[in-house]
Amino acid sequence: MPNSETTGPVSPSESGDQLNRHGYVCPIDHGRLIEAADHFVCSVCRTEFPVISGVPILINDANSVFRIADYNTPTSYGGASDYGGSMDKTSGFRRVYRAFAHRLAEAPIYGGDEFDPLPAIQTTIKNPRVLVLGAGDRRRNFNAILTDVARSPHVDCVCDAHDIPFPDGSFDAVFAESILEHVCDPQRCADEIRRVLTDDGYVFANTPFLQPVHMGAYDFTRFTRLGHRRLFRYFDEVASGMSGGPAYTATHLTRNLITNLSDQPKTRRYLKLAALLASFPLRYLDPLLSRTESANNAACGFYFLGRKRSSPIQDRDIIDLFRGA
Ligand SMILES: [Zn+2]
Repeated sequence: MPNSETTGPVSPSESGDQLNRHGYVCPIDHGRLIEAADHFVCSVCRTEFPVISGVPILINDANSVFRIADYNTPTSYGGASDYGGSMDKTSGFRRVYRAFAHRLAEAPIYGGDEFDPLPAIQTTIKNPRVLVLGAGDRRRNFNAILTDVARSPHVDCVCDAHDIPFPDGSFDAVFAESILEHVCDPQRCADEIRRVLTDDGYVFANTPFLQPVHMGAYDFTRFTRLGHRRLFRYFDEVASGMSGGPAYTATHLTRNLITNLSDQPKTRRYLKLAALLASFPLRYLDPLLSRTESANNAACGFYFLGRKRSSPIQDRDIIDLFRGA
């Protein structure tokens, strides 16, 4: 539990003895979770949630594409597991090659990756209690509860954003990092984020627009800038922008154009390297190509930082927020 000790959320609506020390509640009915040696059990519905290698699996089994049983062995990574990087279990040359390909594919991009939401949040909340959805295997340089649908050494608990296992008003900020394209019902997840936020809490979401399918079956939707804005109509905008401009879109499409010439896994591996090398330089054109409003029409993705409001922005007012050509 690297993070929960320092920033464990405490709901003002719950007295201390109703909460376990991590602040988790049942993802099904928000009932109190009782901590046992290797599992949590809900005091209301009696559902048991296993703790695998120290990571609680707090999934609403009936409501999720993930099953608690999928996580049930200490070695299973569970869920959508293709994060590459430090979770790569290959060795030797293959590992070096995959790390190289991963670095090429994940090199910093112009735009969203440069936007850090924390300074803006800290102008009003000095030490925000932060929940990260889709934390992956990346470490953070700030205190936060890290969650994902897949287990990793840095994740505090496994949870599905459709049913967040925390009480109402638990956090000052929720970060949804490249997850809303992977969920079946993005609006439900946005509503859950709003529920676990304090009355003036912040949401930060970074979501793709023009990007080919990734993570296989666990990829459901894309958002225009305005579609992304509407998801968060219960929030006032603090900042927003492109995360990767049209050149980064071209990088993705070029890579897919070449790799998809074959369905054979072995051939695709060679094509993928050729595609990475061919498409890599394109990304450096974004500082040039992302300057116009029109660039929003072909952005790779968008980020949005918003602050919770009590009533929704009306759809016709959202239309007025259009950015593009
Ligand atoms: Zn329950």
